[in-house]
Amino acid sequence: MAYFDYNATHPIRHEVADSCADWLKVWANPSSKHQAGNSARGLLEDARESFAAALGCSHRQIVFTSGGTESNHLLVRGFVKENLLPGAKIISSKAEHSSVLSALELLRKDGYLIDYLALDREGMLDMEELDRKVKGAGLVSLMLANNETGHLLDIDKVSEICRKHGARLHVDAVQGLGKIPFRISQVDLASFSAHKLGGLKGTGAAYMGPSLRLAPLWGGGEQEKGLRTGTQNPMGAAAMALALQCAMKDDAAGIRLLRDRFESGLRAELSDRARINFRGDLRMGNTSSVTFPGLDGQSLILHLDMRNHQVSMGSACMSGSVEPSHVLLALGFSREEAKSTLRFSFGCYNTPDAIDCLLSDIVSAVRQMG
Ligand code: PLP
Repeated sequence: MAYFDYNATHPIRHEVADSCADWLKVWANPSSKHQAGNSARGLLEDARESFAAALGCSHRQIVFTSGGTESNHLLVRGFVKENLLPGAKIISSKAEHSSVLSALELLRKDGYLIDYLALDREGMLDMEELDRKVKGAGLVSLMLANNETGHLLDIDKVSEICRKHGARLHVDAVQGLGKIPFRISQVDLASFSAHKLGGLKGTGAAYMGPSLRLAPLWGGGEQEKGLRTGTQNPMGAAAMALALQCAMKDDAAGIRLLRDRFESGLRAELSDRARINFRGDLRMGNTSSVTFPGLDGQSLILHLDMRNHQVSMGSACMSGSVEPSHVLLALGFSREEAKSTLRFSFGCYNTPDAIDCLLSDIVSAVRQMG
């Protein structure tokens, strides 16, 4: 099997898999006040220390959650509900992950004003528009790296503008963490997900800057200082912390070379049948978005799957949907273009031979499909 869908989920890291047997021995409830509970709490708190240290913040700033979706809801809705009154302005974009868009929609129904910034066809924001609109806004929520297109936020600029106007900045860093340099000090709130790093699914983290307050999404016990109640998952947290350490040691330049090898192969073999999108400077080195004009993307995915290559059309959460990607539509693609666009995302277990094999099967599939 050759897997080129790292943005949907990263294969579980070998280092994580090797540690699972040890972690499974620490199965007690981390809130229990006995030795077994203490061991579980130790595993959880060591993971918090390690994850925070890798990010460059204090362990006090990390809340463990069930993943990126929950972190986005906790940070966006939790911040707004605790700190802003209905009528307050929140700034975002239509190319955000569906979890952020749904959190914003809930807030809109509660009377908050959601202002979406325009994006150009490369996914870039107009910084003058942000500068103009951010005045008086209580929160700006934008993603660090787009999971479907790979385009990046100009975080230096966005952070500077938000700070200048006193607006808090939430960044959905689920996709960018471990892949691109990221300074936590530039943001107030940030969301992370373990499975995008090569940890276990169903674990995530929320970063909240010092002195910020959040309203919890639900009540219950006192876990995570009452911000995310429910029995914690020490093994998931340990796996996430280890996966982040591994991700930070990944050979990002080598992964970029694989992506570039793929794109130059496509250009050489299918210049008239494949259009490579989002080729600006601000994009992740592991992602390639390709439009095959006139071809049905789903059929091409099935074709490639039969040859044991796993690729996708974009967000895995929406891949059961017959609707074209909301991200591509927000960037000005037509419905037809969006339905003919595939995402290839690469990572540490890919090899040049596997890329060449993928290329040759794409070329024959595209020629066969007409
Ligand atoms: N944000 C982004 C940018 C993502 O790519 C994803 C997953 O695709 C999420 C949030 C949701 O993360 P999770 O699957 O952990 O809920």
